[in-house]
Amino acid sequence: MLENIIPSPKKIQYAEGALQIRPAIFTENAAWSDLLNAFKTAFEKIYKIQMSIAEGGITAHLDDGLKKGAYRIECDDSLRLYAADAEGMGYALVSILNAAEIKGGKIELEKAIIKDYPDKDYRGLMVDLARQWHPFRALLTYVDICYFTKTRYLHLHFIDDQRYTLPTKLFPNLLMEGEHYTFEQIDQLKAYAKARGVIIIPEFEAPGHAAIFNDKYPEIFSNRLEGGEGGQLITEEGAIVTARNIICPGRAESWSAIEALLKEIAEMFPDTPYIHIGADEANHKAWEYCTDCKKYMQEHGIATTKELLAETCGRLAKIVLDLGRTPIIWEGFAKDFAHYIPKETVVISWENHYNFTRDLLADGFQIINCSWQPLYIVANPDHRWGPRHLIDWNIHRWEHWWEHSEATLNPVCIEPTDQLLGAQVCAWECTFEQDLTPIMEHLPVVAEHCWNNRRVLTWDEYIRRQRPTRQKLAWLVQSYE
Ligand SMILES: [Zn+2]
Repeated sequence: MLENIIPSPKKIQYAEGALQIRPAIFTENAAWSDLLNAFKTAFEKIYKIQMSIAEGGITAHLDDGLKKGAYRIECDDSLRLYAADAEGMGYALVSILNAAEIKGGKIELEKAIIKDYPDKDYRGLMVDLARQWHPFRALLTYVDICYFTKTRYLHLHFIDDQRYTLPTKLFPNLLMEGEHYTFEQIDQLKAYAKARGVIIIPEFEAPGHAAIFNDKYPEIFSNRLEGGEGGQLITEEGAIVTARNIICPGRAESWSAIEALLKEIAEMFPDTPYIHIGADEANHKAWEYCTDCKKYMQEHGIATTKELLAETCGRLAKIVLDLGRTPIIWEGFAKDFAHYIPKETVVISWENHYNFTRDLLADGFQIINCSWQPLYIVANPDHRWGPRHLIDWNIHRWEHWWEHSEATLNPVCIEPTDQLLGAQVCAWECTFEQDLTPIMEHLPVVAEHCWNNRRVLTWDEYIRRQRPTRQKLAWLVQSYE
């Protein structure tokens, strides 16, 4: 049924009856052959009917008159798909995957003209691959879920205290035996994602959440705490200062290593427009005790470690810009020092604690809504929200359960603005088994909010329109189990 298309199309103009379609698909545009092959694979998984790449069935056509990401479906005596680019054609194909029905062994689709396009480009899923090891097949599964829900960006948190899961030739000691992806797997992932219109955003987490760097290469990355030992010291007041999970921005060698690693990542993902540079929850207080940081601050007229954190974020962002990509960072830098952050940087507003949504907008940044509540998926079941809550939420709204967030008692709401690129579901700390089902629950609703950001999806519509596609998504995903 056409109303099962995820997200709901902007316009469906129904005609009488339904069309029976031969299981074949064809295009004269050679650039779309990977898209058609991905469609064929997914179709066969979902419908258990063989689809051939041949004439006599569905046809995919170039229509330069359509805008970026837009598509049109014409279903009368034949089924024709139109788009001006691969992005739009990907959405048209997925709409057929969402909506087709099998009746008496034949594929059927209601006759209609559909005109559709996304309101917000950034419809994202982030998965934490570092705290818990995720087998490679999990990554392909996430791509499938993004594909099926028209979620355009898959942001992969490859690095954290526990693991460096990207391959690297430069610093091989960062890698844990059997718990990192290989260059071949990354190539496979990129090809798989590209054929499904999904863009991979790699995250390089620094300067916090970076214990792995200190553990494996202390001579390059670690802070040297005055009077401390092993990245730790006890102050005169008896407080323990640890710099184990934060790298040193005062050392030239740590910067050349970071630059080299970011370059390696950029070369690994030549097509991605964004590289995420982390910058959240950095324990910058430890820098107060570091000889190198203190020297660096003095030389550069930096008064506090909070300022040093912002300066560090700015340097990271500039490295990414010099590599020809747009940096994305978490909201971790303070408003007072926002001038250190290049204005091209996209900021993820998630907590309304380190920096406020309204201040990020006033400072001119483009932002992505990753409101902790209800967009986070974590292992703790007390901090998890289902589709009902997600439906009542919208992309202009931030909520939080944490008393230190400005969004705790009263949600933070903003006026619609082009500075808001979209929203993203974030799955943290979970194993593949733990995050798979909630991701399948969350993504369709969040994709709906971003695709149609001025229209409300009601609970009844959700049950009628989105629930029937759950089974199809399960069949698509099941093939990896
Ligand atoms: Zn330092």
